[in-house]
Amino acid sequence: MLRGLALARAAVDRAAHRRTDDDWLDKAWRDPATRVLLINDGRAELSGDPPALVFHPPGGLPAAERFFLGADDDDGAFFAVEMLESHSSDSWEGIRNVGALLSARDAGLLVHAVALANWHATHTHCPRCGGPTTVAAAGHLRRCPRDDSEHYPRTDPAVIMTVIDSDDRLLLGSQSQWPEGRFSTLAGFVEPGESLEAAVRREVAEEVGIVVGAVRYLGSQPWPFPSSLMVGFEATADSVDVEFVDGEIAQARWFTRPDLLAAVTSGEVRLSPRVSIARQLIENWYGEPLPDPR
Ligand SMILES: [Zn+2]
Repeated sequence: MLRGLALARAAVDRAAHRRTDDDWLDKAWRDPATRVLLINDGRAELSGDPPALVFHPPGGLPAAERFFLGADDDDGAFFAVEMLESHSSDSWEGIRNVGALLSARDAGLLVHAVALANWHATHTHCPRCGGPTTVAAAGHLRRCPRDDSEHYPRTDPAVIMTVIDSDDRLLLGSQSQWPEGRFSTLAGFVEPGESLEAAVRREVAEEVGIVVGAVRYLGSQPWPFPSSLMVGFEATADSVDVEFVDGEIAQARWFTRPDLLAAVTSGEVRLSPRVSIARQLIENWYGEPLPDPR
């Protein structure tokens, strides 16, 4: 299994039973010890080194827009509020930049808050009747007042996989629109009616023309850009000849461990950042962390 998945370390109890307990929520919202995370366009306010989330007391913040994120062992509540005005301060950062540096508690709260905010921003209307919907369940539900339908936050599963041949070499690909030298694992969205294992086999066949045998689950990580869940696998290649079928991948290379270390050390190959599950999958095959040359 993967270790070090930066965005999969959630440590706060989501306390889902409180989402519809309006008395408890209102009491928590009046408690000055309650911690509110302000979110703006996927970013949050940070302070310190290593960075930590900045929380505010609820006083003066719009209660109607509160998303309940959970409670700690002492019943201390965490909420998020999406701020509509933009903030230009340098202390605001997104998950990609700081996700690997935050504590498990803060990383989990930030991905939860950003995933909810992304969903609300793009799902304001009812898919049945087109009417505007209202927020319910402390941010975890939208309801249509016209037809009483309920709409839950969506998560889009995507598979991401290392492809390894019988000589224990790793296949990495480079997309045509990526900067020169950037290589990573293959990945793609799961289609309707498809299992995760079938999605791994289909994506690898479409992108590089390789036939996949065994598929082994290694771990998953939320990736709220805007709403993905990356599900990580190791796929055993039953063939080695690369053919670019769908045109998404422009280059692909088989690496031995010494090949990859040399290419990364020289700067010829640049890998995904440490916060990504792609990096964790590659290092799981390699056996230890790989360097990040400047
Ligand atoms: Zn409706």
